[in-house]
Amino acid sequence: MDCIFCKIISKEIQSEIVFEDEDVFAFKDIHPIAPVHILIIPKKHIESINDLKEEDTNLVGKMIIASKKIAKDFDISEKGYKLLIRTGEWGGQEVPHIHLHLIGGAKLYEEIRPE
Ligand code: 5GP
Ligand code: ZN
Repeated sequence: MDCIFCKIISKEIQSEIVFEDEDVFAFKDIHPIAPVHILIIPKKHIESINDLKEEDTNLVGKMIIASKKIAKDFDISEKGYKLLIRTGEWGGQEVPHIHLHLIGGAKLYEEIRPE
């Protein structure tokens, strides 16, 4: 499978791993946009939110629970943080393997504001 994130999971590509269990993997974003910027991904290759099936419900829940634990480990739970999943071209998704961005450690501003 020619997918960068699958290669990160298999450790063929090096990354700074912050969490791993049987279903979920998390590592530091290579181009952080905030002091804490972690990507939480399913070990199963799923291209985008558009490709999720009913049977993936539990897996998506596990990704969010992992992000909660990581936020606590990085001591950003109380101040707050942002979770983001980009989907498809207009959503700005660059890597076609679902990833949940955990962004925090500074006061964050909205990327999109109403006109
Ligand atoms: P997207 O724009 O698809 O939501 O986010 C992709 C993210 O993956 C970007 O924030 C980018 O910096 C990160 N990224 C892309 N390639 C690599 C890589 O090889 N290693 C790591 N750690 N992050 C990567
Ligand atoms: Zn993949």
